[in-house]
Amino acid sequence: MQGALAARVQYYRELGIYDFYRRDAAPEVARERASQPEPGIPAPGVISEELFDQPESRPGSKVEDPHQALRAIREDLGDCTRCKLHKLGRKQIVFGVGNPQAALMFVGEGPGADEDQQGEPFVGRAGQLLNKMIEAMGLRREQVYIANVVKCRPPGNRTPERDECETCSPFLLRQIDVIKPKVIVALGAVAAKNLLGLDDIMSNLRRRWYDFRGSKLRVTYHPAFLLRDPRQKAEAWKDLQKVMEELGLPISKRLPG
Ligand code: SF4
Repeated sequence: MQGALAARVQYYRELGIYDFYRRDAAPEVARERASQPEPGIPAPGVISEELFDQPESRPGSKVEDPHQALRAIREDLGDCTRCKLHKLGRKQIVFGVGNPQAALMFVGEGPGADEDQQGEPFVGRAGQLLNKMIEAMGLRREQVYIANVVKCRPPGNRTPERDECETCSPFLLRQIDVIKPKVIVALGAVAAKNLLGLDDIMSNLRRRWYDFRGSKLRVTYHPAFLLRDPRQKAEAWKDLQKVMEELGLPISKRLPG
């Protein structure tokens, strides 16, 4: 328990959050906490250890078998050579990972070296930070779905070019239409611009909801950017709190500041 709490505190710190709130706990939990002081947790705050239930996906017409529907999209993609990224050093196509009925979907830009190597999006350092962001929301990585605008690694981790995004993104849109997430989080300006067709700066793209193919869409910083500029982690956390609110996940009192 103590180790888990310490890990949770570390998650929050890595998100740039240093102050904690007190949540009213169920009487038996409160009694248990009272009898088991937990050294190392900042006083006087208490961090709830409850794992939240999976939020419900978007209501409306469901795809009968989303697992099968995603498999069919992957089969259609095949050993894709539709854009030039197929011949620029990719090892494999990085399709997407997670719960085919997820209420929450994250969309990034494109695979990096680790993702290209492992065939799964967000598995490198940025992926580890994304995992911490997801866990800070009270969810687990397996409960959400994660994909990118392009499914092949751009050489040298360059930004995917317009023709590459335009060629690849229809497959992402098909994935979204199968999963029907209640909320989509666009990670970074490239994802936001490609999904929304808006050419704007991050400060204008953030802090509002968009309607996107029946889902609500919110824009926040890409974890790779947050690794470069950790001061923005608190801003990203504000975005994620809005997402939690929309998903009906327990929202605590706002953090000071
Ligand atoms: Fe095909 Fe997408 Fe890869 Fe381009 S990035 S080759 S469209 S899978």
